[in-house]
Amino acid sequence: MQGSEMSANAREILQMDRSARLMQRAVKRLPGGVNSPVRAFRSVGGDPLFMHRGEGSRIFDADGNSYVDYVMSYGPLILGHAHPEVVRVLEETIRGGTTFGAPTELEVEMAELVCEIVPSMEMVRMTNSGTEATMSAIRVARGYTGREKILKFDGNYHGHADALLVSAGSGVATLGLPDSPGVTKGAAKDTAVLPYNDLGAVRELFEREGEEIAAVILEPVGGNMGCVPPVEGYLEGLRELTEEHGTVLIFDEVMTGFRLSRGGAQERFGVTPDMTCLGKIIGGGLPVGAFGGKREIMDMVAPSGPIYQAGTLSGNPLAMAAGLTTLRATGEPGFYDELERLGTRWRTGMAEAASAGERPFSINQIGSMVSMFFTEGPVTDFGSAARSDTKAFKDFFWHMLRRGIYLAPSQYEAGFISHVHSDEDLEKTFEAAREWFVSAGRG
Ligand SMILES: *Cc1c(COP(=O)(O)O)cnc(C)c1O
Repeated sequence: MQGSEMSANAREILQMDRSARLMQRAVKRLPGGVNSPVRAFRSVGGDPLFMHRGEGSRIFDADGNSYVDYVMSYGPLILGHAHPEVVRVLEETIRGGTTFGAPTELEVEMAELVCEIVPSMEMVRMTNSGTEATMSAIRVARGYTGREKILKFDGNYHGHADALLVSAGSGVATLGLPDSPGVTKGAAKDTAVLPYNDLGAVRELFEREGEEIAAVILEPVGGNMGCVPPVEGYLEGLRELTEEHGTVLIFDEVMTGFRLSRGGAQERFGVTPDMTCLGKIIGGGLPVGAFGGKREIMDMVAPSGPIYQAGTLSGNPLAMAAGLTTLRATGEPGFYDELERLGTRWRTGMAEAASAGERPFSINQIGSMVSMFFTEGPVTDFGSAARSDTKAFKDFFWHMLRRGIYLAPSQYEAGFISHVHSDEDLEKTFEAAREWFVSAGRG
């Protein structure tokens, strides 16, 4: 079935009238009808679902349809939607006011907890988004080293700051956008880009100009070209090269932090960067980011040092309360074992379902981050992710939606399993996937 037919079909069965009407209003006043590009369903066709509420692993749209949610707001909701304890703490905190522009105890508690949990963190600065975290970390790395060049990797997304919006993943990849208009040559000229998972290419670059490179920034597990784990030895190799050349190694753990283990990918892989960027889970569903690392580096941040960075709402009580509650919950015994169990179950269940058909597929999964690609694989970098049959993805997406499974509307977004997804949720997902693979033919 063609994507357009499928989407027409899906709409009939799903009752998307209210979403469609909201979209008609939205496009008149919001660019593309949305406040962040991937939400607009451009790469799968049709109108986005307008969401009304969430509960646990479920999300409910404006027309009252309910779905098993694998988007989870693109990562933050590791405890699921509207977790009772997060809601309770938010209600309690909000009665005392929402922001003071002065330090609070909650910020100290957050900083202490993050430094206790994340191996590379000796000091931390809170921000309002992951974008601010990476943008600021790059500034600090440049200020600290007195160097200007940075290295990033193709298909890694680090938010939308100018210097990092080069060969970026997520919506940039989904929409097939060239390097964005509005990013000046000046802002991008000091950003080198290499393929992900190719240590040889990094070694070559470092042999030529290692002493000029202020920072290497990467997603230790790629999550913005679909889920793409690092190959054996990649993170260790980057750690060695950067150490040798006095380059700051920055792990962008906005997605992987507190997800792949309590201490993030750095704990899971046993590789400690100089700086770490955080976001998503650390805000428990409220707008937050953070960056931090070695004391010697973070001491250069204003007001203890000369590198400027600030925020009117940074560290605000609501975000700190939701974040702290979430991070504390992840410390419960067996929390990550359960995520691991669900992730592994997802991979084997989906592989079984896909094997019932004749389509090529490749599944990447690490912990509770998952991706299904419609290609033989293996998928190890942006080039191989881009070989996935996006027409098949589109069809698959609408089929799953019709069956009550909400996936990100893009091949280039990872799926997220929360701690409250149930075995029944997964079974329902496998059943729907099997149906599609069996009926989809060879493609
Ligand atoms: C989501 C994300 C960002 C950007 O965070 P925002 O809060 O959306 O600005 C940066 N880096 C990575 C790895 C992300 O997944």
